[in-house]
Amino acid sequence: METIVIIGAGASGLACMNELVKTNKYNIIVLEQSNKAARKILASGNGRCNVSNLNMDIKYYNHQDPLIEKLIKEFDVVNFFKQLSLKLRYEKNLVYPYSLSSLSAKNALMKNMDNVSYIDNCEVLAIKKAKTYEIITTNGHYQADKIVIATGSPASHLSGQNNLKMLEKMHISMIPFTPSLVQVKTNPVFKVLKGQRVKGIAMLYDQNQLIEKQTGEIMFTDYGLSGICIMQLSRYLDHLKNPKLILNLLPDIEKEEFQHYGLEGFFHEKIVQIFKEKNIDPRCLEFKIIDTMSIEKAQVCHGGVSLKEVDENLQLKKYPGIYVCGEALDVDGDCGGYNLHFAFASGVHVAKSIKK
Ligand SMILES: Cc1cc2nc3c(=O)[nH]c(=O)nc-3n(C[C@H](O)[C@H](O)[C@H](O)COP(=O)(O)OP(=O)(O)OC[C@H]3O[C@@H](n4cnc5c(N)ncnc54)[C@H](O)[C@@H]3O)c2cc1C
Repeated sequence: METIVIIGAGASGLACMNELVKTNKYNIIVLEQSNKAARKILASGNGRCNVSNLNMDIKYYNHQDPLIEKLIKEFDVVNFFKQLSLKLRYEKNLVYPYSLSSLSAKNALMKNMDNVSYIDNCEVLAIKKAKTYEIITTNGHYQADKIVIATGSPASHLSGQNNLKMLEKMHISMIPFTPSLVQVKTNPVFKVLKGQRVKGIAMLYDQNQLIEKQTGEIMFTDYGLSGICIMQLSRYLDHLKNPKLILNLLPDIEKEEFQHYGLEGFFHEKIVQIFKEKNIDPRCLEFKIIDTMSIEKAQVCHGGVSLKEVDENLQLKKYPGIYVCGEALDVDGDCGGYNLHFAFASGVHVAKSIKK
């Protein structure tokens, strides 16, 4: 019987495990560095776990790669969870467990854990190629015929910080992890408005050129700005020289209407006070972006194993029998279920490749 070791009991590793256990052909071992599986799943979607998006398109990901496009389009998230007896529901295009609880998603993904050997508190440090593969961990050595690297990224630190350490000495090209979907530090900062939420359009500029705009919620913080549309725009910051944000907090209000109601007619009194004090026009509020917050605050990371290193089975070209899925690969997407969708889709794809 072949031994398959899955490294990482998160979204992609558990998806892979659930597909592999359908046949009784393998001895499956899941190694997890922390004492809890699926920590990011539990934290996802503010505890509601936004598992996917009905509007699935490669344009919401960082690479317009044909293989990734095929994977995300072919994966049927409803059927995947149906097989795990979890009913899903939709809020506009966002897909959630029917219970709106991330715990339901975790429990469904963990259903088949009794059919595998699960070892937690076991961080994988290195992999050595011998006749089979030898896996060196903080908790002993393991032999594997095939290995699935499903270790995620260091975003939020909920999945550890040594996600790809085991590949360091294996001459695999990796894009360094940097924060994506993250809050931004700005100038000016409105500390007294910390926690205040507004709705509007946020436009990201670099050297006076519009890079991207997003409509939605914006939150003032004591370091700068947060909120879903700011996090979405943070994905474009990597290569910008002089990024700035312009907010229009009254995009649907005519000039006459604004004059009639005044600031008080639209905003919380704290906001009114600051805007008056600083003579700020809410239709054109400008912020220089100084930096992003750290990886620890990010929901997702750019970076990971370069797509050039894997074949169409997501198998390392240099190491046949080692597969990579989920955020450990250099694939990341927008807010709205795109990252979990890719984690599940790629985990299942790897399992199907192994079973071929
Ligand atoms: C706060 C928050 C909210 C989010 N909300 C959403 C959302 O609503 N929708 C969405 O689509 N995405 C969301 N995401 C992103 C999503 O959770 C991740 O993209 C997804 O979990 C990635 O799956 P993965 O399997 O690649 O990695 P993970 O789910 O992070 O799993 C990796 C696993 O590997 C383990 N591991 C790491 N290194 C080692 C090692 N060396 N040895 C052994 N084990 C190791 C980790 O402990 C972890 O259990 C959110 C992320 C955060 C942080």
